[in-house]
Amino acid sequence: MECKKIVLTSDRTMMSSYHGGVLLGFVSIMPQRVMPDLLFTKLFCPPVPAGPDGSATLAPCGMRKVEAALYDAGFEVTVAHPDHLDKAIGPETKIVGITHDDPMGKIAVREIEEIINQGPPHNRSKFLALINHPLMKKYRPKVVVGGNGAWELLGEDVGVDHVYLGEGESDFPEICAKILSGEEVPHVIRGRAVQGEDIPVNRGPTIAGIVEVGRGCGRGCAFCSPTMRGIRHRPLEKILEDARINLHAGQRDLLLHSEDIFAYGSKGMKPDSEKVQRLIREIKALGPKTLDVSHLSIATVYQDQDLLRKVSEIAGIGSDQRYMSAWIGMETGSCRILSMHMPRKALPESPQSWTKMVQECYDLFSEESWLPVASLVLGLPGETAEDVRMTIDLVDSVKDHTGLILPLFFSPMAETKLGGGAGLNKERAMPEHWELVGLCLEYNLRHLKKLHSFYSERMTSGPAIHAALTAVNLLSDVALCKYLKRMKRGEPPN
Ligand code: SF4
Repeated sequence: MECKKIVLTSDRTMMSSYHGGVLLGFVSIMPQRVMPDLLFTKLFCPPVPAGPDGSATLAPCGMRKVEAALYDAGFEVTVAHPDHLDKAIGPETKIVGITHDDPMGKIAVREIEEIINQGPPHNRSKFLALINHPLMKKYRPKVVVGGNGAWELLGEDVGVDHVYLGEGESDFPEICAKILSGEEVPHVIRGRAVQGEDIPVNRGPTIAGIVEVGRGCGRGCAFCSPTMRGIRHRPLEKILEDARINLHAGQRDLLLHSEDIFAYGSKGMKPDSEKVQRLIREIKALGPKTLDVSHLSIATVYQDQDLLRKVSEIAGIGSDQRYMSAWIGMETGSCRILSMHMPRKALPESPQSWTKMVQECYDLFSEESWLPVASLVLGLPGETAEDVRMTIDLVDSVKDHTGLILPLFFSPMAETKLGGGAGLNKERAMPEHWELVGLCLEYNLRHLKKLHSFYSERMTSGPAIHAALTAVNLLSDVALCKYLKRMKRGEPPN
């Protein structure tokens, strides 16, 4: 069978069903020496199913959008399974487009490397193995890397022909046409943003049942890339169509994705309660087993706390599903740092209200059985020991609420306002930073057992995998205990 000229794919860390628990994908930031390949694949990142032609039957939502845009532009394309590239890549293949969120492991890995000090993480090594795949060497297609983590390849000499930054639907088809006709294409390509109504409907189901609701964010945090693109939302009918495609393909759970679901349909900072409720109601009417949202802003939750209660009721939390999860940006406990780098984060409230807002929202999450997965950014420019102490106090004040808190060392992302700055590393970290990382680790280990039990509702794995995950959970307590104690004393972990 003849292979297609354009193949879209990614490595195993991106092309996994994660047993239906997307958080398991985080383990791809662990080094191979700590998490051997067999364990990693069996327990955390099992491959998505493959079709007889080597296609992946589930794919990341961003890859599906690019696939749809290519079809709309008249191209034939294969979304290829990374374990079956021999069926998808051949002499006819001219372009391999790789979607990745963290190809070089630059997001959270420096902390992990410095805590465990056991070599490169799975995501980096599997990405490098993919671009050095023997078929890539044999047929030499042009390799274009896009997706949220494409910026990590700027300045890296790893054999990627083109780095595609920005949105794929706008310019990637034209770039493909140029490559196919032998025209010169720059190494770094910047794709323009598309309007919400122009985000295409997918041609196939997505990993985790992700359904895109909108893009961009208007809050302007200086370290963040979504804010560089204006906020746009898709028409409800297109959102529903993507949800139906997932459900018809056998996906049971849906995950609505945007930077802030409660901003859906809103023109400013105030949530449009009716539109958000209608969105949830119509998705729920399609009959998913569970429904989650990817991201929420503390500010919109705080402004209209009744909206979260109504969404809980419509989604059937406590009756049809045990809980709902959402990512939130807690970022810091210092109102000074918030004013400096995220002045619009709390709007319409002032940055001075931030810690009170976070605490009230955590109380609400607990009352309504929502599980927040919160991120913190450590080491933003100008942060002092006193600022970190305030973040420690904030984390300490919410520690009895179930959730996860991820303390991320600030890593300047190209194309953001702080893109040219220096990131935090072991040498620059203050004792307070280590104490905060230790506190978050303690919080996460404490709540992981309950989270595993909650997540079982969405997971597709059998009892053996659950038993093994429980064992890993318990072993982590023992294995990480000495690092945790050192860090809580304000010392580096090793
Ligand atoms: S609120 Fe979140 S998505 Fe929006 S700019 Fe800030 S960090 Fe980025």
